[in-house]
Amino acid sequence: MHLVSIDIPTLALCRGLLLMLLSALLWFSMRYDRDVSGPGFWALGFALNGLAILTFLFDQPYLVPILNLTNHLATGLACCALLFGFWRFNLQPPQWGVLGVIAILPLIGLLISNDLGRNALLRVLFTASAQLVFYLALLQLLLKPFRAEIGQLFGWLRVLITLFLVFFAWQYGQIGARYLELQVDTPNVLYSGIFGIVSLMFTLTFAIACIALQLVRISAGFADSAMTDWLTGLLNRRGLSMLAEQDDARRHRDDSTSAVICFDIDHFKLVNDRFGHPAGDQVLKMLGSVIRSNIRGHDIAARQGGEEFSVVLVGGDESQAIQVAERIRQDFSTRSLSLGLALEEKLTVSAGVVQVVRDRTILQALDAADIALYAAKRAGRNRVVAASSLASASGR
Ligand code: GH3
Ligand code: MG
Ligand code: MG
Repeated sequence: MHLVSIDIPTLALCRGLLLMLLSALLWFSMRYDRDVSGPGFWALGFALNGLAILTFLFDQPYLVPILNLTNHLATGLACCALLFGFWRFNLQPPQWGVLGVIAILPLIGLLISNDLGRNALLRVLFTASAQLVFYLALLQLLLKPFRAEIGQLFGWLRVLITLFLVFFAWQYGQIGARYLELQVDTPNVLYSGIFGIVSLMFTLTFAIACIALQLVRISAGFADSAMTDWLTGLLNRRGLSMLAEQDDARRHRDDSTSAVICFDIDHFKLVNDRFGHPAGDQVLKMLGSVIRSNIRGHDIAARQGGEEFSVVLVGGDESQAIQVAERIRQDFSTRSLSLGLALEEKLTVSAGVVQVVRDRTILQALDAADIALYAAKRAGRNRVVAASSLASASGR
């Protein structure tokens, strides 16, 4: 009994056209993404996949060689484009050797097979091995999402691909067995029956997952820019509050410490007044990069507003914070010379440092660091003052 009965050209037409449409949708989504390269290659991959499948629409004997060549080339290149797109999307370097193998295997199959039939077993097996290499490389990549928001979709894609590989092994295992028994006649098992439907569903779900990945990245990008200071690329006030809350939770959980530093450029108004706002902006950018180069990857750095910056040394204590603040203070005045501003004296910063006391929040610690910072200003600027020294000086 046939539950469903679809002839090969109809299935090929539907599948090919749907893939082209999804490719167009991915292409369209790139208008909303600054880093367009990954999804662009996915769009190319799905379009090539659609093209490979559309070759099954025709069966005129005189077209067979050109259709075979198109199908094999397009299948290999589609897998290459998809994998390349995933590497770009996931900020990983492409593995050219793997791409070469995927592109060449279907062509080798075409060259060594002297059977002109559409589904000659040896050719099919070579194309399938290229696809297998593609899926295995992809499974490996999906283990390491480049950012947390992508992780869940990567997990679902891994499950989807693994399930599909079971069907894949079943289908191509049968074809392999038939080939080893040297049965040369080729029944129309491919792209028909259960495997045809499963592979149609898989490819469409895969394409939709790629579109979903792109949407997640776009929305994560918007969330990032809402938390980022446009001038220095550090966090803004909002970003700082969010990460500060996370650090509060971490310290509470691990019963560990953190330390904060507040910086303020000395007499910054003078720079703006004498050299204009653009020169002032260059100074702010430079302090941003000095701070970034003096902290570790998991520390938090923000421009809280104007020429005031803050740093959270995650897991750090007061003495480490004093060292880091001193390094930044010295680096800043040295590097400010490279801006070539005709100032009589070096540009300097003042800093206030505080260790986050148990049961206090980062934001409360930043208020305390601000008080230490203004003590540094009052004491003559261009120096680092620890909040603990104020407490002991005032006899508390
Ligand atoms: P002090 O040593 O006491 O900190 O003196 P100051 O001149 O640095 O402090 P003040 O608060 O008087 O001036 C801060 C200046 O920062 C005033 C404002 O024009 C400038 N400023 C704030 N935001 C920006 C910005 O985004 N770009 C530029 N170029 N200047 C800014
Ligand atoms: Mg200020
Ligand atoms: Mg200032």
